[in-house]
Amino acid sequence: MQNRVYAIDIVKKEGQEITLLGWVHARRDHGKLVFIDLRDRSGIAQVVLGSSIKNANDLRLEYVVKVTGEVKKRPPAMANEKTPTGHYEVSAKTLEIMSASEATPIPIDSDGYDVDEEVRMKYRYLDLRRERMQRNLRVRHEVARFIRNYLIEKGFWEVDTPILTKSTPEGARDFLVPSRLQHGKFYALPQSPQQYKQLLMIAGVEKYFQIARCFRDEDPRADRAYGEFTQLDMEMSFVMQEDILVLTEDLFTKLCAAVFPEKKIMQTPWPRLTHKEAKAKYGNDKPDLRKDKSNPNELAFCWVLDFPLFTEQTKEDFFHGSGAAKFAPSHHMFTAPHPDDVPFLDTDPMKVRGLQHDMVLNGFEVGGGSVRIHEAKIQEKIFDLIGFSKEQKEQFSYFLNAFAYGAPPHGGIAPGFDRFIYAALGEKSVREVIPFPASAGGYTSVMTAPSEVERSQLDELGIEIKKQKNKK
Ligand code: ASP
Repeated sequence: MQNRVYAIDIVKKEGQEITLLGWVHARRDHGKLVFIDLRDRSGIAQVVLGSSIKNANDLRLEYVVKVTGEVKKRPPAMANEKTPTGHYEVSAKTLEIMSASEATPIPIDSDGYDVDEEVRMKYRYLDLRRERMQRNLRVRHEVARFIRNYLIEKGFWEVDTPILTKSTPEGARDFLVPSRLQHGKFYALPQSPQQYKQLLMIAGVEKYFQIARCFRDEDPRADRAYGEFTQLDMEMSFVMQEDILVLTEDLFTKLCAAVFPEKKIMQTPWPRLTHKEAKAKYGNDKPDLRKDKSNPNELAFCWVLDFPLFTEQTKEDFFHGSGAAKFAPSHHMFTAPHPDDVPFLDTDPMKVRGLQHDMVLNGFEVGGGSVRIHEAKIQEKIFDLIGFSKEQKEQFSYFLNAFAYGAPPHGGIAPGFDRFIYAALGEKSVREVIPFPASAGGYTSVMTAPSEVERSQLDELGIEIKKQKNKK
């Protein structure tokens, strides 16, 4: 709109006639004068409505308005030092009410932490209006923009991969999508683009990234959203583990300086610990290396390396196999063994180190990756060790086939996009940095899926519901 000025910019417009567009954030009635705080994406500007503005008394909170008027400097006694526009105000000449609002079910002028989360999710479009959530959305956008610019500059191609696909095992439960065309068959939503990015390396892409959506049917936790999350998925050919570490470290160091200038990275280069050291010294494999954990501006990154390739397989492990296998992959089954340890695959698999790397920030594992197996022979051996049956191996035959046609050595990493922002901002839950997350109870925001579907839809899919669990 012509002449439209963002609230934050009134400081540059003294003496000019401008137009503001936005919401009524606050309203103060002083008899002859009505003051409003007009809020838009940039912040807040004070507007003074005199007696010539006849509809001033109709205004209520969250009405959408268009105000034209002159920007004036406030007398020093009326200035508000606490807001960036506090030395200025707009003296309204006209006021147009573009849209009215009912009283909102949740407050918008607070940080929102103490509002019930289910209600915040139901009204997420209102919840996102609050200043803190606007900041979080903006930070998310800036992180994505920085990553894209950086990686494109380094020669990476952004390639998208399918959402309706076959299970890509990352150790979690799959989301299944029934096929209408072939009853009894299912797509799985990808737990990550792991296999596709490896296929892209075989396809000759060499440097790939994608800000990718991943789907895992796991129980929600503070640092994990239910259902879906976003990761920065990367893969490179003809690299050593060191190349992956150096590139990732440089990207995130520069990203933090650009997007979080108030925060300080505690140690560069990032400390590197072996898995053994981390366990022995900190009792876990994602140590929090901050000096002062109450200081929100400390960013303590580190790498954890030399993980064992396998852990003891538990009942919950996804491949269940024949039950006879003892080994589960620490990272995932495509991780390459350390070249010095390959002979142990036959003699003592628990001794084998994997070329895995975990990226840790302030006590959170914010990313994981590895150098990959690029030889079908070794990949098959790993399938055997984790107890894959003949049928399970056959299910992966397309993958092994691909390695028969000249697979370059390759490796990568996938820092969690939401999780990194959550850890860097020191937010209370990862849901605070996701625009429309599912609630802790597993319901999607605003639209409250999952929900029942029409009988006819089930018929088309050839599905009969046996028994409804948790039916309210
Ligand atoms: N696909 C892995 C994950 O989602 C990351 C990787 O190995 O690059 O954790």
